[in-house]
Amino acid sequence: MARAVYGLACSAVELPSERDRNFRLDCRDGRRFVLKVAAATVPPEALVAENAILAAAREAAGGVVPEVIAGDGGSSIHELRDGHEVIGRVRCLSWIDGVPMADVVPHRPELLREIGAALGTIDRALVGLELPGLGDGLEWNMKNAEDVVVRYRELVDDPEEGRLVDACLAGFREHAKPRLAELRQSVVYHDANDHNILVDDRPGRQGLAGLIDFGDASASYTIAEPAVACAYAMLGKRDPLAAARALLGGYHEGYAVPEHEIDVVFDLVRMRLCASVVMSARGRAANPDNDYLQVSVGAVSKLLGELEAVPREYVRARFREACGYEPCATNAVTVGWLQRQPRASVLDVDLDPVVVHDLGVGSLEIAGLAREWDARELGEMLERLRGAAGARVGVGRWNEARRLYTSDGFARETEDRAEPRTVHLGIDLFCDAGTGVVAPFHGIVHAVADDAGPLDYGPTVVLHHAPEPGVGFFTLYGHLDPRCLTELRPGQEVSAGHRIADIGRPERNGGWPPHLHFQVITDMLGREGEFPGVAAPSERAAWLSLCPDPNLVLGIAALEDAPESLNLGERRARCLGPSLSLSYARPLTIVEGRGQWLYDDCGRRYLDAVNNVPHVGHCHPRVVAAGQRQMAVLNTNTRYLHENVVRYAERLAATMPDPLEVCFFVCSGSEANELALRLARAHTGRRDWLVVDGAYHGNTQQLVELSSYKYKGRGGFAREPRVHEVPMPDVYRGLHAGCVDAAQRYAGDVADVLAGVDDGVAAFLAEPLLGCGGQIVPPDGWLSSAFAHVRASGGLCIADEVQVGFGRVGTHMWAFEADGAVPDIVTLGKPIGNGHPLGAVITTRAIAESFANGMEYFNTFGGNPVSCAIGLAVLDVLLDEGLMDNARTTGEVLLAGLRELQGRHALIGDIRGRGLFAGVELVTDRDTRTPAPAHARHVVERMKDRGVLISTDGPDANVLKIKPPLCFSEDDAGRLCATLDTVLGESALCR
Ligand code: PMP
Repeated sequence: MARAVYGLACSAVELPSERDRNFRLDCRDGRRFVLKVAAATVPPEALVAENAILAAAREAAGGVVPEVIAGDGGSSIHELRDGHEVIGRVRCLSWIDGVPMADVVPHRPELLREIGAALGTIDRALVGLELPGLGDGLEWNMKNAEDVVVRYRELVDDPEEGRLVDACLAGFREHAKPRLAELRQSVVYHDANDHNILVDDRPGRQGLAGLIDFGDASASYTIAEPAVACAYAMLGKRDPLAAARALLGGYHEGYAVPEHEIDVVFDLVRMRLCASVVMSARGRAANPDNDYLQVSVGAVSKLLGELEAVPREYVRARFREACGYEPCATNAVTVGWLQRQPRASVLDVDLDPVVVHDLGVGSLEIAGLAREWDARELGEMLERLRGAAGARVGVGRWNEARRLYTSDGFARETEDRAEPRTVHLGIDLFCDAGTGVVAPFHGIVHAVADDAGPLDYGPTVVLHHAPEPGVGFFTLYGHLDPRCLTELRPGQEVSAGHRIADIGRPERNGGWPPHLHFQVITDMLGREGEFPGVAAPSERAAWLSLCPDPNLVLGIAALEDAPESLNLGERRARCLGPSLSLSYARPLTIVEGRGQWLYDDCGRRYLDAVNNVPHVGHCHPRVVAAGQRQMAVLNTNTRYLHENVVRYAERLAATMPDPLEVCFFVCSGSEANELALRLARAHTGRRDWLVVDGAYHGNTQQLVELSSYKYKGRGGFAREPRVHEVPMPDVYRGLHAGCVDAAQRYAGDVADVLAGVDDGVAAFLAEPLLGCGGQIVPPDGWLSSAFAHVRASGGLCIADEVQVGFGRVGTHMWAFEADGAVPDIVTLGKPIGNGHPLGAVITTRAIAESFANGMEYFNTFGGNPVSCAIGLAVLDVLLDEGLMDNARTTGEVLLAGLRELQGRHALIGDIRGRGLFAGVELVTDRDTRTPAPAHARHVVERMKDRGVLISTDGPDANVLKIKPPLCFSEDDAGRLCATLDTVLGESALCR
């Protein structure tokens, strides 16, 4: 048929299928098609209808829908005959490349959104198709869902499954069935399951490739389309609602979902899942030995069970949010009523004046607190702030993301990782314990409870208010004195201004500084005396809509002009140079750092395995204090005598081998290298330089000319004539990779290049281990042999320790020591000031004296008392906390963990490192060592999604770069490896 009717010279492979027989046609010219053979019993009108649907869908959604190919005589349906008898009907469709979504891990929200959008676009186009009765008889048609579930219910023999089905059926009958008549009806594709969705699953670009099998397209409820797709998208997810939200949101983009239809989505989703349960029970009854049928329904009933635990109103809020509606449907009524009321008080003290606190992540106000929040310390600090402002009450904001809710009780699983609940849903009023709490409006006591867990609410009261017909909401009062537990009872009426409780003490209020947590709640979601007071960032919009701003009641003016930092990305793009890069497809807004952790503006934490600058840990309190103290007393320059600069120079020089003893202070690694070049030129009188291929040394004009990482990279230029280059001493893929005497050979290259430099080089500028070059660990002996050749030629040796110095390699303070080499000049930067801009050059007396030719060296900021105080503190912490040793022991654990991964993931070509400086080189083929930069980018993005920060580097951008702060622990190394293991298991990286 393919040849005769469609003129295709091809071979055919049969594809798995439920009804039709489908064949993939592989043509000799490389094109592919699908030949579909429908049984003769399928009425031809059904095939005509399906082709019409395909054509309309393709016109709207483009290449994600197969094209119907016309055959002989322009017809797209051809009879297959055996003699005179028609035994089937043949159609030919274009082939879509892609991976069935069932084989794709994970399903990223962007993919689900794209699928939803395509479905919406298709459905909008299908509205014009008049195909009444299409699919009426299909059991999967959602119009038949109730009948199907009822019909086969008795075949479900697992009692729990049966109970879930009954509960869903009851829910459907109560909530959805009465509204079915209001729903739009149209032709829908109706089968977006993960075998029919094809995905472009190449590394870093997961996207929709195609939707296939339009055989179940039916005239049904339009909203059944996203409901069916959601049911499948939610299966097997840790956060099913997030998946549904992405899909439904996408659908709404393609075809707007009317507000009232959102209310039935949850019931339709569950009915589709129930239909799966009963249909599979029917399948099992018919084929009792088919194991596949036993397994496949497990995920469905698990999801049904999970959904049962989620309040219907909450799901509704999330789905409404997905479609851009106010998440809580009653929010507007509550907010409108509150706005019409005069301001009311919930305390019996005057709120004027108040002081508004910043308790958010990155708050500078509470920056002085110890590592984690502590009730007493925080309480004292807030009391002081109130005292200073002459206020009796301090206010903590609604909708503020806070870093304090870090205990497990506040964590919530999302698809990629646990997410802390950080967003505050109430207003805090901090004041003395014993202060009276009063009802702002007339109400009925809804609940009185003692939420006694640590960091819970303690004694809590919830009032219900129904001030006028159609208006009903709740107010919650937490952290109260326990007396209210006996004095109030549910059902009791309280009038506006009635004193309902007192503010409790830390011993009885959940362990917090005395304060009232006051929250407005539009819907209690079926709860009594406990209700979330903080929400996860990913659920923020829904919860804020369920719990509107309590300041609508209090009217605190100072809260109304709360600063908000919006559109940072756009503003940055307008006012900063475009050559500055941002990491990640969706950049992070990082606002706080502690130790090896960084926190974004939502309070999500990230394990920092890439920033080597905060060497002893982000914002180390001793380093911070050293800088703050000195800054408060004096900051000048090196033209005055000062103890700090001298002591710091003595301390630094003492870490260096002889004859390195003279220091210069600068403000960056680049400045340090610039100065080193000047020293070398002054000492030797020569003008040529020797550098290592792939290296980076700094951002000045001259250093870019000496950094092949830059001049050979994007936007680069030809190597300057006075710059000479030796090969990168890379034992994995370099010139002498795999040679046992690679060190001698690479050092021999140094000698060879030097021999070709007529006037000799002033200096050889080299990193002992290459950072930007791809975390390269040269073979033992390379550096010292190379130095020997350079010295023999009359040149100087500069060790650039900007990346790898200060104990990072674990065995030695300086990486050059690990190779037994002694440079003439050492340059220091990055980690030296733990983030404070500081750099240093250390050299021999003879070289320093050559430089002192009469011209003054002045560096305005270099060596100022503040920088030196900070540098000294870094050295102290490094020593006192044994961080070099930690780099060695943790580094060993890290490298062992990475090597173990290499055993299981073919993508890892090479693991290398020393101490807490490691590289993971990714290749698509271990034999050819073909670099895998797209895979590396994918890994870095996904590690970030899962809460671990690393980056890529190297000439082929295929090396994962790991260089954490030295306080990185063995647990952290384990977390990094486990996360990397998961990410490397993602489908895009495994084929
Ligand atoms: N040398 C090396 C090895 C570096 O990696 C860098 C920065 N990446 C520099 C020098 C320049 O340091 P800075 O950016 O502080 O000027």
